[in-house]
Amino acid sequence: MIKVDHEALLTVRGLTKAFAGVRALKGVDLDVRAGEVHCILGQNGAGKSTLIKVLAGVYAPDEGEIVWRGEQVELPTPESALEIGIATMYQELDVVDGLTVSENIFLGHELTRGVFTRRTQTNRQARELMKRLGHGSISPNTEVGLLSAANKQIVSMARALSRDIKLIIMDEPSAVLDNEEVKSLFTVIRELTAAGIAVVYITHRLEEIRQIGDRITVIKDGRSTANGLSVADTPTSELIRLMTGREVANVFPPAVAIPDDAPVVLEVDHLGLPGVFSDVSFSVRAGEVVGLAGLVGSGRTEILETIYGARKAGFGSVRVGGKPLRRGSVVAAVRAGIGLSPEERKSQGLVPEEPIFVNVTLSSIPRFTKAGFLDEKSERKAAREQIDALELRPADPDRPAITLSGGNQQKILLARWLVHGTRVLLLDEPTRGVDVGARTEIYALIRRLAAAGNAIVIVSSEIEEVLGLADTVLVVSDGNVLSTVPAAEIDEHGVLDLIMKGTAA
Ligand code: ADP
Ligand code: MG
Repeated sequence: MIKVDHEALLTVRGLTKAFAGVRALKGVDLDVRAGEVHCILGQNGAGKSTLIKVLAGVYAPDEGEIVWRGEQVELPTPESALEIGIATMYQELDVVDGLTVSENIFLGHELTRGVFTRRTQTNRQARELMKRLGHGSISPNTEVGLLSAANKQIVSMARALSRDIKLIIMDEPSAVLDNEEVKSLFTVIRELTAAGIAVVYITHRLEEIRQIGDRITVIKDGRSTANGLSVADTPTSELIRLMTGREVANVFPPAVAIPDDAPVVLEVDHLGLPGVFSDVSFSVRAGEVVGLAGLVGSGRTEILETIYGARKAGFGSVRVGGKPLRRGSVVAAVRAGIGLSPEERKSQGLVPEEPIFVNVTLSSIPRFTKAGFLDEKSERKAAREQIDALELRPADPDRPAITLSGGNQQKILLARWLVHGTRVLLLDEPTRGVDVGARTEIYALIRRLAAAGNAIVIVSSEIEEVLGLADTVLVVSDGNVLSTVPAAEIDEHGVLDLIMKGTAA
């Protein structure tokens, strides 16, 4: 018998799994305790999904042992995992769009009397489960195809809870959720653990681990590099090291001194959007990076969107190169040389199914049009130049944008504005959904764009990122700029202090 953590509900030792030619798991250990949130952290391709598919009975492991509540088990089928009490919410949601909420929840284990499905009872139990998950307002008779991704997850969770489970595994559930939805997911997770159910929560976002995790197992290149670390006792730098194998000193590129004669490119003057933010003033010189630091909901995104003309300012003005912009006109902003990379890249920025080259040339169509026809050859050529310059991977202009990693999707958006020729870049959460390892590259790229003479404004929920990238920091709270300070003169505590005081006032 292998050595087992005496508190463990689930113990995994030495798990390996190879697919034709690819060794996805090379030796993974995991100990999950009852009632805990156990995070599994790892970069894209580390082997997280493969691990959980082994635990879900989808893949048979090549080697290794799985011990469940003290007994060694084999999990030859998904049903066998469910029977012992392990449920899984897959990254690729597996609810059936054409069926109702209640049909999905009881799929495969319908409540029957004789040969008849007991519809009333089924619906009543489905309603109970949805209510328990805080979504009682969704009717059991709703067709699942009509629900948002977040609500589909809830249905998937309700299905898990319809069985008598002890452990629920969630594979990157936050990837398809916005901030509010993540919060509500965390509430649900806390209720599950309070009821003694263990949650294995997979993510590559470090900030989420701090919010929801009790312990962490880190996976790198198919191996667990740490097993069951306490979240509270493990600094972020250590997690990054375990995840990437790199030290993280100097992830941020050194700031470059802005030349004295660098012209002011962007001027924001007493800008206001009634009910959202008021009296925002700052200017950005060529080569300068200005960062907006603040909590979620403080108005940062709206400030960027108003500068970009996607929202119509109620007060004040925006000038580029001294020339005032027409309020509420994206066309005017883009023409003046402003580019925006939005927070929700997949829904707002990229055309996900279209190839890289179409996404890169999207804002410069006239330039690639000859006699009324799009010249795909020159579009591809322009895209290829950007692919080389930004080291976009895979380096294939015909790849659909959706198939690229978060970091490379971000590069596509930057490439778009480089092809268009901007002077002002507004970057909202430029590293959202980007692996920690790939962030360094994005940081270096942002610095390079500044050095090339762009005026850059970034928004990030990670204060550390704002401080690391920006020359000047604007601390924003509740739609007000509380302070404008050189980044070198303030630290994370200083920013938080200002925000706390500003919120209290
Ligand atoms: P993660 O979920 O951590 O991003 P995965 O477990 O999906 O990582 O993948 C780990 C590695 O195994 C990757 O190199 C991936 O390409 C490979 N892999 C995953 N599933 C399969 C499969 N069904 N066939 C072949 N290779 C696979
Ligand atoms: Mg995965």
